[in-house]
Amino acid sequence: MSNRLALGVDVGGTKIAIALVDGKLGVTERIDVPSFATDGFELWGRIADATTEILSKADSEIVGIGIGSAGPIYPTPGTVSPVNIPVWRDFPLVKCFRDVFQIDRVTLHGDAMALAHAEHRIGAGIGSRNMLGVVVSTGIGGGLILDHELFEGESGNTSYFGHSSIDFQGKNCACGRTGCVEAYASGPNMVALAKELGWQGTSDSFIDVAAAARSGDVFALQAIETGSKALAVGLVNFVGSLDIGHIVIGGGVAQAGDVYWAPLLKHIRAESEYYGFLRDLKVSPAKLTTDAGLIGAALGVLEIPK
Ligand SMILES: [Zn+2]
Repeated sequence: MSNRLALGVDVGGTKIAIALVDGKLGVTERIDVPSFATDGFELWGRIADATTEILSKADSEIVGIGIGSAGPIYPTPGTVSPVNIPVWRDFPLVKCFRDVFQIDRVTLHGDAMALAHAEHRIGAGIGSRNMLGVVVSTGIGGGLILDHELFEGESGNTSYFGHSSIDFQGKNCACGRTGCVEAYASGPNMVALAKELGWQGTSDSFIDVAAAARSGDVFALQAIETGSKALAVGLVNFVGSLDIGHIVIGGGVAQAGDVYWAPLLKHIRAESEYYGFLRDLKVSPAKLTTDAGLIGAALGVLEIPK
């Protein structure tokens, strides 16, 4: 079992990671390609080139390709329309992999679903009966474990709470809706808010807003305060509806450390106070940081004994 190999593909709004994942969930030969492209098939070409290079290094046959993608995704036709990759609308990603690499077994899950799956199997969520896995990055998404199993939902988009509205008169979101959690709480939207408030930084990276906040910049601090509160409200709405006991949070923004986690935990505690039964709600950082998405994607095709 342990020498079985899969190709894992983690599609995000900033980069797409591709790698071999083995039966012990070890990740090798990882290549990242940028997600920005002016044409959908140009982006696919980059992925195909990286995949060819990675597969040439595999020392045994691949059992399948597991894709985890930013949403929305459509597993039945095998297409993806990631909000933050505008050149891909109903893009036939599963068919592209099948046709070009002649591998039948190709699975498609949401990226946050992949993270939740990986964290539940070998990360911060081991043993949790009901768990919400969350990615806070260029976008915001979730993945759900119910009764120890990955729950996919009707269309494969369960826990799409980044685009749940927390203010119907609020900010416009890239998805077209008003007041989405993501419109306030994603990395790029916290950067935009810091600039609106008066932050003098020229960077478009949340890493730099977090650094400014650490050195006491009031505008950066306020942007993180607002973004983390928006996320907390969205999270508590969700876990309060389903009575979920554990939230595991990963993604680039969540790696900013205390300057982000302290206000986030404060707001989650404050919001969950209103639900008595969430008193013991556990909130953990993801353990698998950089490779969780790849491992979770590969779990779609790797059969690992529990
Ligand atoms: Zn939205």
